[in-house]
Amino acid sequence: MTNPEAGLAVFGGTFDPIHFGHLESAVAVMDLLGVPRVKLVPSFVPPHRTGPSSTPAQRLFMLQIATCGNNAMEVDDREVSRQGVSYTADTLASFRSELGEATPLYFVLGIDSYCTLNEWDRWRSLTDVAHLVVLDRPGYSPEIPAEVLAWSRRRLVDDPKDIKQLAFGAICLVSLAQVDVSASEIREMLKIGTRPTGKMPEKVIDFALEHGLYC
Ligand code: ATP
Repeated sequence: MTNPEAGLAVFGGTFDPIHFGHLESAVAVMDLLGVPRVKLVPSFVPPHRTGPSSTPAQRLFMLQIATCGNNAMEVDDREVSRQGVSYTADTLASFRSELGEATPLYFVLGIDSYCTLNEWDRWRSLTDVAHLVVLDRPGYSPEIPAEVLAWSRRRLVDDPKDIKQLAFGAICLVSLAQVDVSASEIREMLKIGTRPTGKMPEKVIDFALEHGLYC
């Protein structure tokens, strides 16, 4: 039996495309936090901003293929449906209002994203509704901006087990067994005709190839 009160993990990103770095991190995070489910929330990105890319519907579909049959992972289309710029502050506020005040909400992001946090709209308010769980990223040397460091100091906890009783407000930097893969590397491989075997699910690769994505 899973306990929904244990909380909800939300993993946001462009997922252009989804890969094992995302999927394995999502599994490891559920295990670490003891939460029964994780929601993958692709952001809305207007198609064809720069160079070859995929549409929001295609990114959403690739997420659905990748998580098909996995009951612990859900794809959530609220940012794609909302269109326009996807603000994490709005997304987390909407999850918070669905969960109520007492259930822990964990927003999961990579350290590379955390290093840009001070450029996000209303970034200081994120911990008013959620905890932040920041994942180490292989091969990435983080430079956390001074204002993020200063702001985070009072909120940092070493062990996520220490925040299970709290619904929001803490920041936890964690190092899991992350896979060294990025979406940009996969896009580059597909562009030059190399199959990104082992970097993302085979069915997602097939979908990308059938639709000529990133070529
Ligand atoms: P790109 O290469 O285009 O920047 P990406 O691989 O970083 O893409 P995103 O969709 O931008 O993928 O990432 C969504 C979230 O997942 C971000 O917070 C990012 O830091 C995190 N993330 C992506 N890949 C990994 C990985 N291999 N390990 C841990 N976190 C990751």
